[in-house]
Amino acid sequence: MRLSRYFLPVLKETPAEAQIVSHRLMLRAGMIKQASAGIYSWLPMGFKVLRKLENIVHEEQVRAGHIPMLMPTLQSADLWRESGRYDDYGEEMLRITDRHGRDMLYGPTNEELITDIFRSHVSSYKDLPKTLYHIQWKFRDEIRPRFGVMRGREFLMKDGYNFDLTKEDALHAYNRHLVSYLRTYERMGLQAIPMRADGGPIGGDYTHEFLVLAETGESEVFYDSEVTDLTFGDRGIDYDDHAQCQAVLEEFTSRYARTDETHDEAVFNENVPEARRRQARGIEVGQIFYFGTKYSEPMGATVQGPDGKPVPVHMGSHGIGVSRLVGAIIEASHDERGIIWPEGVTPFHAGIVNLKQGDAGTDAACEEIYRALAARGLEPLYDDTEDRAGAKFATMDLIGLPWRVTVGPRGLKTGVVELTSRRTGESEELSPEAAVARLAEIYAPHQAGSAPV
Ligand code: ATP
Ligand code: MG
Repeated sequence: MRLSRYFLPVLKETPAEAQIVSHRLMLRAGMIKQASAGIYSWLPMGFKVLRKLENIVHEEQVRAGHIPMLMPTLQSADLWRESGRYDDYGEEMLRITDRHGRDMLYGPTNEELITDIFRSHVSSYKDLPKTLYHIQWKFRDEIRPRFGVMRGREFLMKDGYNFDLTKEDALHAYNRHLVSYLRTYERMGLQAIPMRADGGPIGGDYTHEFLVLAETGESEVFYDSEVTDLTFGDRGIDYDDHAQCQAVLEEFTSRYARTDETHDEAVFNENVPEARRRQARGIEVGQIFYFGTKYSEPMGATVQGPDGKPVPVHMGSHGIGVSRLVGAIIEASHDERGIIWPEGVTPFHAGIVNLKQGDAGTDAACEEIYRALAARGLEPLYDDTEDRAGAKFATMDLIGLPWRVTVGPRGLKTGVVELTSRRTGESEELSPEAAVARLAEIYAPHQAGSAPV
């Protein structure tokens, strides 16, 4: 993409309404524009990041054996009356009446809708297990939308639902989600720690929230510092293997890590040596639940069991806050000059800065690097504007592309360009071909291909 043709409305001034750094940087970098309280338009660069996160989520869900689909945003109130949640949900639910006077709602979550789909089409235990998911906009009329996309009213969520014959199978689905979430967040360059949580309106005894540690996080958390040493990495996993998935759950959840809702000071003090006790703040980027037959029973989602008798299915639901993650990644990865995107989610792989626009040799060298990067499957953002070098660098730093290639007549005289890391600020002089090859090498582990959906 050439910057002269792109739509990147960066702001010089820091918007007064933004209280936290990710919100400020998303506005300044021209990623979002507020449409009304807690509702945002995703401008091209914000949308690109959002799409990258969606792709990672899809890839990891499909890898775990989960099946993508799409349910609508607007739902009929009748289904929610069946489960009993129409009255329970409270004012966060946006209720709408259509022209025929029918009660509708903008879905805050989808347990009822998916249970209805399931009961209409699945009748035998032989069709189990099934896990279906979608990535769809949700609406919750939050009393205090704030922090930009972190607590929006309209927000994008991946929500998945498992249907199993037995509790044991459903707990395997729970573990499978835990593993796939660990992989998902790591690919986004994040450490998200599973912590024991509270079921809230979704319900259930088994539930973990995934938290990214950050001072601006809304959740208060308590944990054994050893949990921050754990990484899933690139180890292989067989998602059908119950024991393997259970072992990962135990590895990642056996140490103390809880949100304030489930925190128990006495247990904390007894089980964690003082030097390892940590109290901090975190951003909730996902949650998994096993809730058994809470929805299948009242809604009649039963299957014929092996003995011919109808049994209600065991269910769980599993959410990832896709749009919140854009903010969470920025909270975890920025400096005073702007965003620093992890390679796995960056909107463009590298910026090309032309130090002397209009100089034939420099222009030609930039074009060649631009073409060569594209030929390697990488997407550069080429600043081909007439701006001064200082302004070009400031924009690149603000929008946070992990790598910058700086091209000027002085370097070209000796056949070199400069490759600079946004994270470390370190620069290296090398030939244009070597710079392209280096970038291809850096991004090779992140070129997972397009989502197999
Ligand atoms: P919170 O406690 O932050 O209100 P929740 O526990 O009610 O969230 P879930 O029902 O667990 O949310 O939804 C799954 C995920 O969706 C959450 O882990 C979070 O990342 C995201 N999410 C929830 N509410 C919002 C919101 N208002 N804005 C953006 N993302 C949200
Ligand atoms: Mg939650």
